[in-house]
Amino acid sequence: MDLRVWEDHEAGSDTEFWPTTAGDGAAGIATRLDELRHRYAGLAGEALLRILIEQEFRGRLAVVSSFGAESAALLALVAEIDRRVPILFLDTGKLFGETLRYRDRVIAALGLTDVRSLHPQGEQLAEDDADSMLWLADPDRCCALRKVAPLASALHGFEAWVSGRKRFQGAARATLPVFEADGAGRIKINPLAGWSRAQIEAVLATRNLPRHPMVADGYLSIGCMNCTDRVRPGEDPRAGRWRGRVKSECGIHLSLAPRLP
Ligand code: SF4
Repeated sequence: MDLRVWEDHEAGSDTEFWPTTAGDGAAGIATRLDELRHRYAGLAGEALLRILIEQEFRGRLAVVSSFGAESAALLALVAEIDRRVPILFLDTGKLFGETLRYRDRVIAALGLTDVRSLHPQGEQLAEDDADSMLWLADPDRCCALRKVAPLASALHGFEAWVSGRKRFQGAARATLPVFEADGAGRIKINPLAGWSRAQIEAVLATRNLPRHPMVADGYLSIGCMNCTDRVRPGEDPRAGRWRGRVKSECGIHLSLAPRLP
């Protein structure tokens, strides 16, 4: 079994960060979204993933995973269809060690063969976050450097990408569509958008998948160390992310369009 983890993916230079011609223009993307929504209305989960991976975007689709609290469910469904689907993992340099070790456990358990660990571009990081405290001064820019830019670079050549977001995760995701534009000319797909927590739990339990060790300690959504807190009873699952700030998304789910100067 080829357990390949790419550790050498850095975002390119400034001029390489941002795809400007990744696909059709805005009108083309809107037409494509309409077509996909109509063609696959009513499909979700594994059934939708299968047709997208094997037919609609065959060889032109990646999955983006944080290897966080519920990630193993989506990854298991993908692996059951094709273990070779590229999985993009943003190793921001600020993650918990538990997450990095969990990533490796999940790769081994599912037999994933093309997990790509993406790193921030070193020179840009040295210039803009020399003291590693940008997360405190300007978290949006920190996310742009450590997440958005590496992902935008890694998505060159792909037509579509899949995320594991769900509507039940909080108010900001309550109206999440299954198909949307990523702001940079590609289609973003949320095949579990309408799933419940119970459906996710069923996938994890029936397959006896490894659990992220921090979930049992109250971390229901797990990102970077500085920006992740435990979730209190009654709170949304993502309430511990950027606690005390207006920010609720890292930016990769807002737009991959250029933002850095
Ligand atoms: S989640 Fe926090 S530490 Fe991680 S990239 Fe965003 S602002 Fe920086």
